[in-house]
Amino acid sequence: MKEAVAGELAAAYHSAIVDEVRANDYQFSSGRLTLHLAREFGFCYGVDRAVDYAYQARRRFPGQNVFLTGEIIHNPHVNDRLRAAGIRFLSDPGERPDALGRDDVVILPAFGVTVSDMARLTNQGCTLVDTTCGSVLNVWKNVVRYAQDGFTSIIHGKVKHEETQATASQALKYPGGHYLVVLDREEAAIVCDSIRKGGSRDALLDRFRSAVSPGFDPDRDLERVGCANQTTMLMTESLEIGEMFRAAMADRYGEERLAQHFRAFDTICSATQERQDAVIALLDEHRLDLMLVVGGYNSSNTCNLARICAERVPTYHIADPECLISRTEVRHRPVGAPSTTASREEVTMGWLRPADNLVVGLTAGASTPNNIVGQVIERLSAFAGE
Ligand code: SF4
Repeated sequence: MKEAVAGELAAAYHSAIVDEVRANDYQFSSGRLTLHLAREFGFCYGVDRAVDYAYQARRRFPGQNVFLTGEIIHNPHVNDRLRAAGIRFLSDPGERPDALGRDDVVILPAFGVTVSDMARLTNQGCTLVDTTCGSVLNVWKNVVRYAQDGFTSIIHGKVKHEETQATASQALKYPGGHYLVVLDREEAAIVCDSIRKGGSRDALLDRFRSAVSPGFDPDRDLERVGCANQTTMLMTESLEIGEMFRAAMADRYGEERLAQHFRAFDTICSATQERQDAVIALLDEHRLDLMLVVGGYNSSNTCNLARICAERVPTYHIADPECLISRTEVRHRPVGAPSTTASREEVTMGWLRPADNLVVGLTAGASTPNNIVGQVIERLSAFAGE
């Protein structure tokens, strides 16, 4: 079946120009434009596998309804193509997840589903095609172990992100399990402060109302904590947050008793790490006039690549080639804005210097297919040459 869909996948997502750029030491030149492509970019192993399984599922069950629980990955082009291939999305208006039954096939996305969704689909008797990425399963394994041992999972992630919701649900598999989700250093500092000094539990609960497990009691549930993260967060920030909690617990309970109160595992996935490392290398190696980061606006790992770049050079996070409106205008998501599909875009004028040589860096998030990257290269090249 894998061979059967290989042609379909290549036709949908392959890009000859991306292959050429790769073969040319990740560099592309055209007139005054020199483009440097990050050495790791685009589809990761988990996304590759999830998309492959979805196409296979559509072929394997030709007479049956095939559903996705929601977006398979955070890229609108990939999701639209799956809709066009006849796969229905349970998150679409008019779909009835409660009416699914034995004849229905449901594909679970790369970032997984919550424990309760999994139980419901199993009880309904649906055929499940589980594309949950192995790196996400690895996070779950750690979080379940925390719960088993009575540790609260501190999850560095976005509380509304499907992966973080699924991971948080794993923390409740054992009676003593709890979770608290922190978005960034600022939120981590608030919790660490509370660990060190105690303080107002009501204020803490108020601040993290939608980010803690039911019945969360700061006095009881911050006594033993284990760190985990959404796999696509900024690695440096995740490590720093882990260290902040380690220091807070050491201050509260003493270094000698730390092991009884604090645990941590690095759960950033290797694909995210490689893409972040590659873009840092690109910024170190070349004097860039600007950076283009391509990916869905609700793609966490793409937003984090843009954050890394924006600290060094003018950076435009674009969803697709059409965002390059003209030689003078670019439509993009402001770096640092919340990563949601509804994220507002803004238009920047004068993004391409009119004369002289132009050196542009390019990368793409783990959910961006090569055909979109290739189209961006072609459109950029056309505008730069005008
Ligand atoms: S970003 Fe990482 S965890 Fe997510 S699907 Fe890709 S490889 Fe898996």
